[in-house]
Amino acid sequence: METEYREKISCLDLTRQHQQIKDEVFKAFERVYDKAAFSGGPFVEQFEQDFAAFCDTEYAVGVNNGTSALQLAILALGIGEGDEVILPANTFIATAWGISYSGATPVFVDCTADTWQIDVTKIENAITAKTKAIIGVHLYGQPFDIDGVRHICERHNLFCLEDAAQAQGAMYKNVTVGTSGDMACFSFYPGKNLGACGEAGGITTNNAGYYKHLLSLRNHGSEVRYYHDEIGFNMRMGGLEAASLQVKLRHLPSWNNRRRLIARRYQEEITNLKVKLQVQPGWAESVYHLFVITTENRDLLLQHLHEQSIVAGLHYPVPCHLQKAYKHLNYQPGAFPNSEYLAQHCLSLPMYAELSDEEVSYIIDVVNTY
Ligand SMILES: *Cc1c(COP(=O)(O)O)cnc(C)c1O
Repeated sequence: METEYREKISCLDLTRQHQQIKDEVFKAFERVYDKAAFSGGPFVEQFEQDFAAFCDTEYAVGVNNGTSALQLAILALGIGEGDEVILPANTFIATAWGISYSGATPVFVDCTADTWQIDVTKIENAITAKTKAIIGVHLYGQPFDIDGVRHICERHNLFCLEDAAQAQGAMYKNVTVGTSGDMACFSFYPGKNLGACGEAGGITTNNAGYYKHLLSLRNHGSEVRYYHDEIGFNMRMGGLEAASLQVKLRHLPSWNNRRRLIARRYQEEITNLKVKLQVQPGWAESVYHLFVITTENRDLLLQHLHEQSIVAGLHYPVPCHLQKAYKHLNYQPGAFPNSEYLAQHCLSLPMYAELSDEEVSYIIDVVNTY
């Protein structure tokens, strides 16, 4: 039964969430405004404390976006020119940027065919004498095999970073992600599960040394004002962003639960055999930042959805190793078959907490009639 929907169902509609919490957020903005605490300052510190408590880590450092979080984490590990860092080929490109900014070389490995997460069995082949770290990505909100990656890191004396940009609140073996590596990097881009009213990012760690170094790096390499111990950056988080994040963090558990409910309905009620879903190992509890499916003829399904006013997304149409920006690394098509298959056949169904039950039913009907 397909109801007539005149209005489009978009892949992500941020206006609904922001209408719901407008009063709360505006009150928080007013407090920042009245103190003129726009850059760094008490609201950022409060959010850092709240977020560290949420992740159950000792420390959290707020920065201006998730890409900076990755860049500073790589720098804090002392990684630079001549070094190599391993990461999955199927991720948002920013996972690789921090490595490249430092002068190090990203070394890609394939994902598995079913979980679409970094294939732990393929990592050791990519390790060389230059390898310094592995970045795992909790892609689409689903944790990667953290213990698998950590064991390899321990065996080869490598650092372990989590790219948790898409996974605020996801659980790995009943532990919230962001605590298991040397550092974890988060994005609070507006479209993420926890997104600022603006651009923001953060790093969590249990290591006091990294924490101190990150505070300096984000603030012109300075601990004492106007005394600069190293070449640093201006990558502070803004006060308005921090205040909006503090409000939204309180809602995050219920928003994530709602995403899980929607995901469960997709998983149980999409019965179309032409559609494949991401496989979730028992130890992974996703927060469904995205709900990605694959199908042999993606263009046909995209068109079918489009005709029924459903806007799907593509995350991501080109794997990192085949991006023009990394042409100089000389990867060839066919190097990572699972990542390349995913890029050519993936499609993201609408996924956000404010989707109504009726809309979810409608999306399921439309997918099933393809
Ligand atoms: C969003 C994202 C980033 C970058 O975060 P920004 O805040 O947009 O800079 C990094 N890695 C992954 C996996 C992401 O999804």
